[in-house]
Amino acid sequence: MSMPLNLKEGYRQFRTGRYTHEVERYLKLAQGQKPKAMIIGCADSRVDPATIFSAGPGELFVVRNVAALAPPYEETPGYHGTSAALEFAIEGLGIEDVVVMGHSYCGGVQAALTAATAQPVGRFIRPWVEIMAAARDEMLRDPNCPADPDERQYLMESLAVGVSIQNLKTFPFIQKALAEGRLRIHGARFSIAAGELEWRDPDTGVFEKVDVAAD
Ligand SMILES: [Zn+2]
Repeated sequence: MSMPLNLKEGYRQFRTGRYTHEVERYLKLAQGQKPKAMIIGCADSRVDPATIFSAGPGELFVVRNVAALAPPYEETPGYHGTSAALEFAIEGLGIEDVVVMGHSYCGGVQAALTAATAQPVGRFIRPWVEIMAAARDEMLRDPNCPADPDERQYLMESLAVGVSIQNLKTFPFIQKALAEGRLRIHGARFSIAAGELEWRDPDTGVFEKVDVAAD
């Protein structure tokens, strides 16, 4: 069999471990899903939402793409994968909370920063990360824009979450759900090395560490 060994071993552990222990849950989930939250996360292998939120099967509706971006509402034809996931989550599943979760050392955000001054970063990546182009250009024009590359990256990661939140609000079905009070939109950022989550203040756009020790 050509199956990669690491995947096969992981699957073996799932079959003999989690699935065996939670078979009732899986049988119930086969009847349908009713997750309450949706996470828009980055495809980056280090920032798995189910791991960060200790979520089991059926608990989180997740869409992951390069840089955890939500595109704006568009009526042009195309393969709008993230938009399709949003539509199903909100119209089909009645999701109550959508969280846009960026992260540290995001290669997609770095690609957007590179694209401001250098050659295209990829046939598909470049136009995709241009979702944050206006925010990036505004940041770079700002005289207070940090010169330090790490600080600049951090700022762009934070701004990108804000851009995605603004884009989410351009979808008619999201506008309707927000107006009817059945949907909330949040922003977050995960720091890989520290394993820390920051939550975005919706009014100021500032991120603050989530303090679970205080609970
Ligand atoms: Zn990323």
